[in-house]
Amino acid sequence: MNVTERFLNYVSFDTQSDSSSSQVPSTPGQLTLAACLARELKDMGIEDACQDQYGCVYGHIPPSRGCTRPGLALIAHMDTAMDMSGANVHPRIVKNYDGGPIVLNQEKSIVTSPKDFPSLQAHIGQDLIVTDGTTLLGADDKAGVAEIMSLAEFLMSNPDFPHPPVCILFTPDEEIGRGSDHVDLEKLGAAYGYTIDGGILGELSYENFNAAAAQVTFHGVTAHPGYARGVLKSAMLIAMEYQSLLPVYQSPACTQDREGFFHLDHMEGTTETAVLKYLIRDHDHTLFAERKQLMENCVQFLNCKYGPGTAEIAITDNYQNMYEKVREHPELIQWAVKAMELTGITPVITPIRGGTDGARLSFAGLPCPNLCTGGQNGHGRHEYVSCQSMEKITELLKNLVKLFA
Ligand SMILES: [Zn+2]
Repeated sequence: MNVTERFLNYVSFDTQSDSSSSQVPSTPGQLTLAACLARELKDMGIEDACQDQYGCVYGHIPPSRGCTRPGLALIAHMDTAMDMSGANVHPRIVKNYDGGPIVLNQEKSIVTSPKDFPSLQAHIGQDLIVTDGTTLLGADDKAGVAEIMSLAEFLMSNPDFPHPPVCILFTPDEEIGRGSDHVDLEKLGAAYGYTIDGGILGELSYENFNAAAAQVTFHGVTAHPGYARGVLKSAMLIAMEYQSLLPVYQSPACTQDREGFFHLDHMEGTTETAVLKYLIRDHDHTLFAERKQLMENCVQFLNCKYGPGTAEIAITDNYQNMYEKVREHPELIQWAVKAMELTGITPVITPIRGGTDGARLSFAGLPCPNLCTGGQNGHGRHEYVSCQSMEKITELLKNLVKLFA
């Protein structure tokens, strides 16, 4: 089975995760795909392939003869995003893409056009797998799953091809931020690894945001507005003043690349109480700490101005920039770049303006940059993946494991 055939099989499983569920994994469809993957790995001859009670799939490919290098993990997630249904996906292959608009659904007039999605231009002449416009495709991250499975099949039928122990892991519930919750790193047994969960061919990411959430609460005093002079203190107005103290251009709408931001995510208020909720993001550790300090300082300023206890802040750290951990293993970056060059792929190194499962795994002891899958426009009906990209990435993984041998 080639990588495209595998991919088309995996997208036939509905594995949408659900953040409102308290089950592990959050939806039963993920267990069905997990069972299928574990069985396929076993059929390839990977004896210890199994699915655990949390829906994680593990499988270990022994090293080629004489290789004493530590284990290399290759990780992809099985679930699809909540933004759009992943049930009854009807994939279609657009052969030899001509660079024009792709009609996904005539009846509903759904068209993927290069005007809206300029990345299509990079795929002229290739075969693109698209949806019928009513669901997402699931290339995020079933393209990653298919590429790892194809590599596994190659290694199992070519035991002399140089490679270290390859530790395969497929996780559920990545899209709802629970992908690494139940990963057993001891069972995985790798020293480092890669998530295969990125976008366009060549993408390599080893930096992500440091992330925190802040809740700022303001306490006011109510009074009859006609007789409020000197008494009334509006929590809402003080909240607005707080927002005005923050640097106006350091918002998501005005920042890019490695620029961090304060993002007002939610607000509610009455005269008596107002609450502002923020996301704080920065790639740089020091700048990130300064952002949190600035938010504290603004609270202190308002407490000096309006009286102690007027404003209070609670800051919760969410995740950290994986680069802190990845840089201790520079070969993870060097060899990914080298493997791309060997495969004829131009590396596109991009800092992630978000987080990944790899960030959490990196801090749990498994340094884990992110590699491309070839998928584009994830989480929506315009999602597509190039068959040639998936083939190239399978080749890339072969060259990569060889470098680690
Ligand atoms: Zn993903």
